[in-house]
Amino acid sequence: MSPTKIDASTVKTIKQAISAQRIVDTATKLIGIPSPTQSAADVADAMAEMLAAEGFDVERPVAGWEPAPAVVCRFNSGQPGPILQFNGHLDTVHLPFVPPRVENGMLYGSGSSDMKGGIAAMIEAMRALRETKSLTHGGILITAHDLHESPWGDGHQVDELIRGGYLGDAVLLPEYLADRLSVVGRGLCILEIDVKREGIPVHEVLGGIEQPSVIYAGAEIVRRFQMLDAELAKLTHPLGLRESIFVGQIHGGEIYNQAPTTLHISGTRRWLPGHDWDEVHAELEALLKSIAKETGTEITCEYHFSRDAYEIDPSHPAIKAFEVACIQIMGEPLPNGAKPFVDDGNTFTALGKIPAITHGPDAKGAHTLNEEVPVAELVRVAEVYALTAIGYCNGIYA
Ligand SMILES: [Zn+2]
Repeated sequence: MSPTKIDASTVKTIKQAISAQRIVDTATKLIGIPSPTQSAADVADAMAEMLAAEGFDVERPVAGWEPAPAVVCRFNSGQPGPILQFNGHLDTVHLPFVPPRVENGMLYGSGSSDMKGGIAAMIEAMRALRETKSLTHGGILITAHDLHESPWGDGHQVDELIRGGYLGDAVLLPEYLADRLSVVGRGLCILEIDVKREGIPVHEVLGGIEQPSVIYAGAEIVRRFQMLDAELAKLTHPLGLRESIFVGQIHGGEIYNQAPTTLHISGTRRWLPGHDWDEVHAELEALLKSIAKETGTEITCEYHFSRDAYEIDPSHPAIKAFEVACIQIMGEPLPNGAKPFVDDGNTFTALGKIPAITHGPDAKGAHTLNEEVPVAELVRVAEVYALTAIGYCNGIYA
């Protein structure tokens, strides 16, 4: 690829327009409003009011979640052309609230890394595009929503946004992944398995030892999953992902000499593009059914389907625009890679059928009490987003 670059004066203009202070102010405002998943209404209201006060067009579609309607904001060049979407989740994991704080160029607080810092950066990119009048075609669509973080959210608000047509031609998501261009991601299903036997809990020496053992059945599930995982490890993607089955929790029994009636196992199944979920599901059902038969127990599984697997086409003009933006801002290309986690990018590609690039700040401490993100990283993300929009919407790589 010998990419056409955006001219140096435009890059300079964008860099001058992007304000670190404005990003910090926006991020501080969003972080200062607690928004654990399912409770993002107040922060969504604040974001919508802020953008409307700045003169942007704002809509509040319910998108399947009455308690906290989504925030949709548009900035159009006025000329036809591609729409680049920036999408973020306003909810945070359920941990004690940490208020926002800036110290020595670092931003701290709940959601600073995941992902209110990134949302502030994507908003700043849109402001800079408007101020500098750099978009000659197309436009920006910002979407922000609740219900992202598992297990409290099931992702259905972003699904409904997509189904409702709040969808651009390509999307950028500022999650905390900065070192690669993720062109492939795995599907994920969370498994909640219940093992039961008939009857009541009973002392080991009063007949308990004669009962079908839910403990042994659980052990057999774990053993067979381990064998299955060894097989799945052979299903690999060249960029370094593999299929897997994983056990994260097992609970069973009350005291040492009592035969219990129930046991619970939770874990995950992750698969690669090209492997159909229905097929994966049928394999698991057959395996659990045979273990139930062998152990004289009843085994049921709740399958919490999270996101499907996806792969994006690196020749898409939005991807090219992003690659060139990275070179122009960071001085070198971002290597193609795989996304280790599942995010809304999977949904945009699998359900929305548009290429999704997860790229955000090099931040630390997501899903902990110690989230931290360098302000310079948020500035860099805003610059990359704005230049990607110029390259893509203005049709430089079409
Ligand atoms: Zn996130």
